[in-house]
This record gives sequence, C-alpha cells and structure tokens, in this order.
Amino acid sequence: MNEPIDNGLIDLDPGRVPPRPVCAPRRPTRQINVGGLPMGGGAPVRVQSMTTTKTGDVQATLEQIRELASAGAEYVRVTVNDQAAADAMPQLVREANLPLIADIHYDHTMALAALKAGVAKLRINPGNIGSRDHVREVARAAQDMGVPIRIGVNRGSLHKRYDGLVKRDAAGALVQSALDEIEALAAFGFHEVAVSLKSSTPHEVVEACRRFAAVSDVPQHLGVTEAGTLLAGTSLSVAAMSVLLSEGIGDTVRISLADDPAYEVKAAFYMLQALGLREGYARVVACPTCGRVEVDVVALASRVEELARDLPADRVISVMGCIVNGPGEAKTADLGIAAGRTKVAIYRKGELHRNIDKADLEQVLIEEIERLR
Ligand code: SF4
Repeated sequence: MNEPIDNGLIDLDPGRVPPRPVCAPRRPTRQINVGGLPMGGGAPVRVQSMTTTKTGDVQATLEQIRELASAGAEYVRVTVNDQAAADAMPQLVREANLPLIADIHYDHTMALAALKAGVAKLRINPGNIGSRDHVREVARAAQDMGVPIRIGVNRGSLHKRYDGLVKRDAAGALVQSALDEIEALAAFGFHEVAVSLKSSTPHEVVEACRRFAAVSDVPQHLGVTEAGTLLAGTSLSVAAMSVLLSEGIGDTVRISLADDPAYEVKAAFYMLQALGLREGYARVVACPTCGRVEVDVVALASRVEELARDLPADRVISVMGCIVNGPGEAKTADLGIAAGRTKVAIYRKGELHRNIDKADLEQVLIEEIERLR
C-alpha cells in the first residue's frame, strides 16, 4: 500500500497540531430570560420551531408542541392570530412542556392576551404592529410580566418608511429597522429584547446579522425566512447560519421549512452538532450506496436513527450497504453494520462481533443499540 505523500501542505501528524475549534468564540450578548431558559449571554445556542396547527385547536397544537419538544426544541412559537387562538393560550401555556412564544402580527391586542395567558416571550413584527401607542402598551404589559420581546424584522414586511433604503441596501434596511425598534422600546424603558433579521436570500441574512452584531449586544435569533421545502430550505438555512455561527453570531436558531416542523428541530441540532456548538443526537454514519449495495440503506439507517434517538450524543453507529467499507468505518464506530448478500456483519468497537442472518437484523439492532446506553 502506498504511503500518503507529505507535500508540506497538510500536517500529517495530528499530534503536532492541536485541533482548532470550527467556530470563533461566541459574541457576547445581553442575556434574556425566556420562561426560565436563558438565551444569549453565553447560554447554549437555543433551538426553536413553530407550530403549524391552528392555535385554536388546542389538542392538535399541544400534540405538535410535545412532538417538537421530544425532537429537542427548547422553545416553541405559536401564532396568536385570532380570538380562538387567544382563547386557547391559557391552556396551551399551562399544558405545554416547554416555553411558548407568541407570534403577533397586526393586532396588538393579541399580544396583550398572550401576555395575560403567561407566554414566555413575544415576537412582534415592527412592520405591521401599528402605532407607537400600541407598541408602548405591549411593552408596558411585557415589562410588568417580565417577558422579553423579539423584534422580528422581515425583508418582506418592512415598514414603508424603509422603502427607499431597502432598494439601495436591503441588509442595511433590516439593521436600521431593528435598531429603530430597539430604540423605540428603550424609550419606553424596555430592554429585554432579541432581534431577528430575516430575508429569504441567505447572503442578505448573513450581511444583516453581521452588521447588526457589530453595533449591538442584543441577542440574535437566526433564520432564513420562507427558506423552502425540506431539502432546499435546510440547505439555504444551514448555509447562512453556519457562516454566522462560525463567526460567533447567533443565540437561537430556527430553520424554517415548508414541511413537518420536527424536521426543523432535527436539522438545527445536526447543524449545531456539526459546528461543535451543541450536543445533538448519536451519530449515524450511512454510506451513500452504489451498485454494490446489498440492503435498503435508507430504510436501515432511518430505523437505526430512530432506535438511537435517545443514546448519548457521543455514540457512533455506522451503516454500510456492503462489506467493502464495513470494516473500515466500523473501526471508528461503537457499532458497525455491514450488509452482505445473505448475512450482516456486526462490529463492536471495530472488532467483528458476529455474522447474523438478514432476517434477524431488526432484533439484533434493538439489542445492540440498547447496549450502547
Ligand atoms: S459501502 Fe458498499 S454499497 Fe455503500 S457506497 Fe461503499 S461500496 Fe457502495
């Protein structure tokens, strides 16, 4: 076997070069308290999502909130968009198993109702919340309840006063709108704020968040709005957020997908885990398959992910579609699975443990994954 060529570009002795963290140190931000779970100011980057049910349908909404919590969401946002939603909020707050954030557009009375119900945070859109009097009324009520407010600036719904600026400098318009709202709330004595600067164009999000981070210590909620369906939305969101997170910017993330919101949470954790910012799920390494494949790797890896969901995050399981890369990948995995024509090789910590019949695979998976707890 040929030795690797040392061309001087890559240090082949990992002992000589200490691994560098992927991300710059987190940018210091002021901390806010979201239902007892701090955000910003050195707290872990929080993962959040939003329900897609009609908020007024209490049972369906509670069910989805619980699904999101079990996927790992730390905050869940619900829209409070009509009287039925406002009426549902007290029960949702009481029975939800994590802090709820009320999403408010147009009608400030919905914000007041959500505060009364005991939500952990409000999200208001400065482009459509209405007059300063309305903002003052909401700020006073939030202040009394000790509830923070996210100023959610969206490129698609900027106030018309930014029409000129947005044409010349979209990112600048997002930043200016956020700073103006922070100042407006500060004028009412309200400082418990977070901001989001969202656009459906990832590079505008990156630019706006960077520019905002350079001038303010207000914690940032990162997101690419209307990012798209599962694959497109995840890719665009992760592209923008990874840049920002690697620069130490971002205190909470939401990956917005036109799909089941549980995917938003899972994708967010995979992203944060890959960047070394959070512990996520146990790692399931799966081969991409090719013409040699001897098993349905997609189904098998999905099943392994499901079984491994509650394992400690440092566990690694490899799923290989044939025996070519099975032994190699198994060396770095706690559990390795490599399919043959009729048998499946099971590795433990790099050693071949047993060869089983394919028909027994499900039962063996359950046993072997259980042993990794
Ligand atoms: S492990 Fe086997 S099936 Fe999977 S990509 Fe490699 S050669 Fe192909």
